[in-house]
Amino acid sequence: MGECPICAAEVEVANDAIAGELLVCDDCGAELELKCVDPVDLAEAPAAEEDWGQ
Ligand SMILES: [Zn+2]
Repeated sequence: MGECPICAAEVEVANDAIAGELLVCDDCGAELELKCVDPVDLAEAPAAEEDWGQ
């Protein structure tokens, strides 16, 4: 289990998950990137579908 950096809900991380994997928080729907698996470290994924200008 990891913790959503947006809403602090618990996010399920698969046992075979790898760093860099993208997950979606069931609670707030945010896209999260698995930065590290041991210990689990989740960060908000960069918005890939939207163009923020930079
Ligand atoms: Zn969340």
